[in-house]
Amino acid sequence: MTVHFHEEDLPAGVLADGPVAVDTETMGLITHRDRLCVVQISDGKRDEHLVRFGPDSDYAAPNLKAVLADPARIKLYHYARFDLAAIHYYLGVMAAPVFCTKIASKLVRTYTDRHGLKNLAHELLGAEISKQQQSSDWGGPELSEAQREYAASDVRYLHAMREELIKRLEREGRTEIAQACFDFLPTRALLDMAGWSEHDIFSHM
Ligand code: MN
Repeated sequence: MTVHFHEEDLPAGVLADGPVAVDTETMGLITHRDRLCVVQISDGKRDEHLVRFGPDSDYAAPNLKAVLADPARIKLYHYARFDLAAIHYYLGVMAAPVFCTKIASKLVRTYTDRHGLKNLAHELLGAEISKQQQSSDWGGPELSEAQREYAASDVRYLHAMREELIKRLEREGRTEIAQACFDFLPTRALLDMAGWSEHDIFSHM
């Protein structure tokens, strides 16, 4: 298990074929204000890659963009809605097709309202994820060891979590509705960026 650190792009050919787990770290939660600082990506074969972008980045990253935009690769996220918007806004690609572990969790774990990554990874896999660095400064010239480990751990368990969530969706007869939700997520992210982030366009109001 190794955490690889890269500046401004992923090296070519470091990922095996198949689904990739993806997460982002930004300066905050307002996408057009708070720049994209780190993209984490893993092919689920025990290594994680961190791609850091500097404050003056042009976000060219051709290798990373090719993987994210590849329609043959499913991208696994926990709360894809945020990451899709950040990636689309800064890197200019829609990183789909999507599997979102938070949406899947909400569709099968109807006995709880605790759908955070830490909780879900613990229940599904017995994994312990620390959320201590969640609100740290991702924009500095150096990322600390703790930040790197935190960033990597956010993509480390998504492949195994998906396996378990696929079984539970199947068991509860919700596979198709989950897929329909995943397919809508790029549109949901675009609505957020276009000014409808606080509005549920399906509500009566
Ligand atoms: Mn994260």
